[in-house]
Amino acid sequence: MRGSEKITTSHFERTALIYVRQSSMAQVRENTESTARQYALADEAVLLGWPRSGVEVIDADLGLSGRSTEGRTGFKDLVGRVCIGEVGAIFGLEISRFARSSADLSRLLELARLTDTLVVDADGIYDLGNFNDRLLLGLKNQMSEAELHFLAGRLQGAKRAAAERGELRVTLPVGLVYDDEGSTVVDPDEEVRAAITDLFAAFRAGGSAYQVVAAFKGRRFPLRAYGGVWAGQLRWGRLTHSRVLGVLSNPAFAGTYVFGRYHSHRVVDPDATVHNKVTKLAMEDWPVVIHDHHHGYITWEDYLANKACLAANTTNSGARPVREGTALCQGIIACGSCGRAMSTRYHRNGHASYECSASRADQMATPTCRSISALTVDEAVAERLLSALDPEEVALALAAADEVADRRASRSRAGELAVERARYDAQRAERAFDGCEPENRLVARSLESRWEDRLAALAEVEKALTETIAAIPELPGRAELEVLTSDVTALWHAPSTSPRDRKRLLRTLIADVTLLAEPDFAKARIGIRWHTGATDELVVARRQAVTEYRRTESAAIDLARSLSHLSNNDIAHQLNAAGFITGAGRPFDNNAVASLRRYHHVPSPSMLEESEVTAGEVARRLGITAGAVIYWIAQGWLTARRGINNQWCIPFGVSVEEKCRQRVIGSAHIHRPDSTEQQGTHELTVGEVAAVLGISTNVVYYWIERHHIDARRGLGGRWFIDFDAETEAECRTRVATSGHLKPVLESQTS
Ligand SMILES: [Zn+2]
Repeated sequence: MRGSEKITTSHFERTALIYVRQSSMAQVRENTESTARQYALADEAVLLGWPRSGVEVIDADLGLSGRSTEGRTGFKDLVGRVCIGEVGAIFGLEISRFARSSADLSRLLELARLTDTLVVDADGIYDLGNFNDRLLLGLKNQMSEAELHFLAGRLQGAKRAAAERGELRVTLPVGLVYDDEGSTVVDPDEEVRAAITDLFAAFRAGGSAYQVVAAFKGRRFPLRAYGGVWAGQLRWGRLTHSRVLGVLSNPAFAGTYVFGRYHSHRVVDPDATVHNKVTKLAMEDWPVVIHDHHHGYITWEDYLANKACLAANTTNSGARPVREGTALCQGIIACGSCGRAMSTRYHRNGHASYECSASRADQMATPTCRSISALTVDEAVAERLLSALDPEEVALALAAADEVADRRASRSRAGELAVERARYDAQRAERAFDGCEPENRLVARSLESRWEDRLAALAEVEKALTETIAAIPELPGRAELEVLTSDVTALWHAPSTSPRDRKRLLRTLIADVTLLAEPDFAKARIGIRWHTGATDELVVARRQAVTEYRRTESAAIDLARSLSHLSNNDIAHQLNAAGFITGAGRPFDNNAVASLRRYHHVPSPSMLEESEVTAGEVARRLGITAGAVIYWIAQGWLTARRGINNQWCIPFGVSVEEKCRQRVIGSAHIHRPDSTEQQGTHELTVGEVAAVLGISTNVVYYWIERHHIDARRGLGGRWFIDFDAETEAECRTRVATSGHLKPVLESQTS
């Protein structure tokens, strides 16, 4: 080899590194000649004089592009080892194979010069310390870069030209294949065709990709596997949401040839790593679009309509698709006062309302911004819609019904095709078995078992088909439909018509609904904009608020006011006697009069005598609960009387208050902290004392109350007992001498 005199003993003492790389796995698979030549460089190194043990091959980068060092561990390893000076020579088939980026390559060459590392390619040996060699390598680097540029340019140019003629072969989606002449045709496999056709039909029927996935539940969807050994082989799997989106957005199904839907470019991250980024181009930026390029499944208009429908389903870009709720104008109603979209709110009682809540939240609401019962708007809009539907439109609906019948037939078609195929397979297996010589027993046996397998498979798909057909609901006949559709109003209100269907019908005719500004609170003005551009304005009476239509007669309120010094029960009695009823249509009682007092500001009589207070007031003064006060009254410790409306009135003089305070101090059950200190080291809680002595906690509480043991009340009403040895001994004696204190049974686990 040229330049072998440049190799010195120092180089032989160090390692000879062979760097092997192919850009892609396809090259590794198909361009085996080149890979073999790269590996042969190891023999070359031995020929030049390196010992076999001193030659190493780095092939970690097979199948990785040399565009950048990103992900190429082999190249990084190579650079690292050159850096520490343990490499005598680097071998590569071409200098450009080390790195496509000249920055990476220059760095490697500079490091090689500093560490006196030789570079060897197919043409010769270079010593980077030698200016001529450096110049030559630099030149080769430039040349290969230029070559790459021209090559890429020519390739891209040829590719683009072929694409502009619609002849560049691209990966076709499932359902379309290339025929022998290279033209795009629909898949000859009927089962595949049926699946694609049904996908589009399901989208038309359901209006969303999720509905398509639901329609394909339990049914297989085809996939053509490309790449590697698959080579376009057909596989079957589950239909996913993303695949539905992929099919709907692929213009190939509309018979249109498009080149350049995606644009790939390189981006640099803040940490200086370079990677490829693929962006989707907008339809108007597609470089090559050829309509009617081949037979498709849908028309271009269908394609555009599907795209628009998908866009209308994307809520995060502001679209408001049809939802399941009952409010018809959900998503298309706007506030005519502030111009914002109104939100739909479902209340717990099942009623819905449209609310101008965005403006209110932003403090931008105008005086005429309001909420309105969804029923008020919906009834008016639906009535207007139904009156607008004339018989001609109904005829259109009938045509749609025929389409439904078609679609229904296609639902079982997939199953029928599967049966047909299984039957064909079984017949073939049978023929093979029949044709086999009887003396060839081994072959006959295996053929027979295969035939049996095929028959079993056939039975299985036949069963599946029967189930599918049974699962399809019976369709009404055309005559029945004509009768039905002649009464659109009945169809609209039929319980089998879902709110979703109603909304979709509404949206096909009505573009949007506006709640116009209306100063009269009892009325609502509703604007309707039809898709034709025509507008309508309706004025309807609003539903009254509950307090309006359930209003108590004013004569009853007047009577109650004149009797305000009486108790609620007495007033109720008088009102009932005078023949009045509540707004809800019931006789008056204590509660009804109480709410009447609250709502109509009828004053309550003063119910306390001089020096009397309520139970709540006693509780507040003593710092105890009202429950404790009621308990005292019940026990007879505290005198009290039932006042008007059945409330407790307690004479609470100075002496009574003092007596109560004494009781609070003496009681073990009324929670007032003696001190806020935490539990001390010698202190035990009631529960702990009970556990130590093996008695019930009630006994401990009793002792505390009787001052048999010393305790203080801590925060939260908790008792802390100063439980020293002396106290413990006393307690144990008390337990032992007591006739009725039985130790609590210890639990088995302790
Ligand atoms: Zn508003």
